[in-house]
Amino acid sequence: MKSQTLYYDDELVFYKNLFILKASKFYYFIYNPLLHTSFRLQIESADTELDVDNNIQTLIDNDILTRDYVDSYEVCDYLINTVRYNNSVVTITDLSSYNCNLSCVYCMQQNTPMPSAALTPHERAQGWKVIKELFGANSINLSLFGGEPFFDPAFVEEMLLKSYDLGLVFDSISAVTNGTILNDKIVNMINIYPFTQLQITLDGLSNVHDKRRFFKKDKSKTFNVIVNNISILLKQTNVKIILNTVIDFTNINEYSRLIAYLKEVFTNYIFCDEPRIIFNIGNECNPFEICEFTSVNSLSNTNNFIKYYELYAEIFREGIPMIMFLPSIICIKDLPNEIILSPNGDLYSCITGVGHKDFHVCSIDDIIARPADAFASIVKSKRTRKGFGCYSCQYYGMCSGGCEYNKNNLHLETSCQKPFFDMCIKKIIEILSELEEIQPHVYRIRKNLNV
Ligand code: SF4
Ligand code: SF4
Repeated sequence: MKSQTLYYDDELVFYKNLFILKASKFYYFIYNPLLHTSFRLQIESADTELDVDNNIQTLIDNDILTRDYVDSYEVCDYLINTVRYNNSVVTITDLSSYNCNLSCVYCMQQNTPMPSAALTPHERAQGWKVIKELFGANSINLSLFGGEPFFDPAFVEEMLLKSYDLGLVFDSISAVTNGTILNDKIVNMINIYPFTQLQITLDGLSNVHDKRRFFKKDKSKTFNVIVNNISILLKQTNVKIILNTVIDFTNINEYSRLIAYLKEVFTNYIFCDEPRIIFNIGNECNPFEICEFTSVNSLSNTNNFIKYYELYAEIFREGIPMIMFLPSIICIKDLPNEIILSPNGDLYSCITGVGHKDFHVCSIDDIIARPADAFASIVKSKRTRKGFGCYSCQYYGMCSGGCEYNKNNLHLETSCQKPFFDMCIKKIIEILSELEEIQPHVYRIRKNLNV
């Protein structure tokens, strides 16, 4: 598709479907959002369009521009579909229960309707097998979720033991855990089974974190417990730790203090060539119905989302490895091969929508009884929110079509992300111009920013 030239300001132009940023006095950083390729081009004149026009062949030779007969939108769709319809591996996010030992002020499940019955470990492993076979997949990526997935370690161990009895093969196992529960049984499990990463949240130093994430039974502090457990995990296992921080107005100005502390405590695990601690900053999602804390403090509820990117830029410039920050081009809701299995064996299309009828797809029993019908329900539930109008949008290759959960939950008219992109695109391209990928989906500041 042909695109018009858009001038964001003196430094950022969208021309020939490319974002072109004057990254310094000497060169442009050019980003193709459909192919996700980039290039540095010397600035030759005061006219950006002329500079691009004079270097068309160079840009084609470096995979930035495609030849006229190629439709880059079509190529972009192909790349997305290879992920969407890759059924050789199925990803199962397993919520075996909502039980948790913490109370968090912004807990996603504070209003989630609780199921009346839950599957046993054997039934869950059997469910994984049924899902795998429905897709004809060779293996499973398993993500343990909750509640707190290690709330009952014996339950997890039993599920994994049973899955091996059933002959299931895992590409990888990961867990989203609050990091407060660790014992020899869990360490052993992590070492025996193919655990690759754990996502653990620290929302700030103790003065911040402990006000937001505390033990349910006595409101006592969790920060020191978590840091100590991370130390044990780093020494006694090989897993990577994705250190997540939920950023909002109450902790955004405190994050750099947390980073300074962690840099000191875990230097060797952060600054090595193969980092074991990788940082991520996320924003709060709105729990079903209302959570006052989130409504008041979430950055995504305001026009201040740009602050999230400013923070990201500040942190990665310190040389720490970070998870990719681009808005996801595909979310779980778009991927038929990513299944969320709830405590009672119902399947959901979106992780935050678990327990809510809008995101309910079918059940394990439905798959067993009527597999073709269940498969069709899964495919239908995973429809993209992008419409035909998106093909004339400069953000097409960077956009998932927006969040359906937020649209439903906040009663929005559309999930279109254009206002968000308009606000943040310059910061996003600036950050991209300074990063390099050091492992799949892990980024660090480029060593020599002038080259
Ligand atoms: S619809 Fe929204 S909440 Fe659900 S998986 Fe996608 S981005 Fe996440
Ligand atoms: S920003 Fe809106 S119009 Fe553009 S691709 Fe996303 S959903 Fe479509």
